[in-house]
Amino acid sequence: MLAIKASNGAAEVQEVPKPDGDGVLVQVVSSSICGSDLHMIDIGILGEATLGHEFAGTLPDGTGVAVEPTAPCGVCEYCADDQLQLCRTATERLIGFGLDGGMAEYCLVQPDSIIVLPDGLEPSDACVVEPTAISLHAARRGRIVDGERVCVIGGGAIGLTAVVASRRHGAVVTLLGRHDHQLEAGERFGAVSQHSGDTHADGFDVVLDAVGSPFSLGEAVRRVRPGGRVILVGSYWDGSEFPAMEICLSEIDLIPASMYDRSAPRVFEEAARLVATTPDLANTLITHRFPLEAAPEAFAAAADRKAGSIRVVFEP
Ligand SMILES: [Zn+2]
Ligand SMILES: [Zn+2]
Repeated sequence: MLAIKASNGAAEVQEVPKPDGDGVLVQVVSSSICGSDLHMIDIGILGEATLGHEFAGTLPDGTGVAVEPTAPCGVCEYCADDQLQLCRTATERLIGFGLDGGMAEYCLVQPDSIIVLPDGLEPSDACVVEPTAISLHAARRGRIVDGERVCVIGGGAIGLTAVVASRRHGAVVTLLGRHDHQLEAGERFGAVSQHSGDTHADGFDVVLDAVGSPFSLGEAVRRVRPGGRVILVGSYWDGSEFPAMEICLSEIDLIPASMYDRSAPRVFEEAARLVATTPDLANTLITHRFPLEAAPEAFAAAADRKAGSIRVVFEP
């Protein structure tokens, strides 16, 4: 079968054996390229595993499923407490990083990674459940409540799903994005949208940084009211300028969020329901679809945000 792996700083299609062994065989129907895939290929930290941690497909009996790419280690206190994202060995078992992922025709996963899709969500769209779960986990960690004024910085897949998740928590949301197509998408989900560089109101109760660049945390801190909360969802690949003085003087709570936990109600299941019940969420996030053979074109489209890409999806 075909699978996409990182090789010499690029994504490469390879012929590999169909997986076989313990677990559930998922026939992949949709698998999206994440910004972290682009970064990890660039800096050369990926090994032999097939890429793809955002994917969905069908079981041998035809059931539509999404795959939660984390897995418990079975021994540590964090995994025992359903906080898999805090496990010190989490990346070794992360599907699409340490284990073979979903940019392939088939992927073998453990039964507890399977989320059966709710009515109204097809496997061809369900690859976006994963980024939606990241944003829902962030909104939960940030304790966003009804009527709060929330500012989301960044109009990519995480920023847009953060708008949807914050709205679901009852917030009044402003989106700051760079590109027109991102701002239009934010408005479709009920946000007031503005270009990042424009002057605009500040003093938000909560600011969610979905950019993770060296300066985005500083921008978030400038936008939040004294005593407010800043939620950090970006990956900060290049570190971050840390505005320690402003944070201390204004007693701003910093709340980091990484992936998702498995405590009840399970975030990944709620994310699947949110995608199923938000008209146009999947349509808006998925801007391009390619076969696996077109990996070079697909990764080029994903890297070019100016050209209008949000999520570029493989359809094996
Ligand atoms: Zn991702
Ligand atoms: Zn563990």
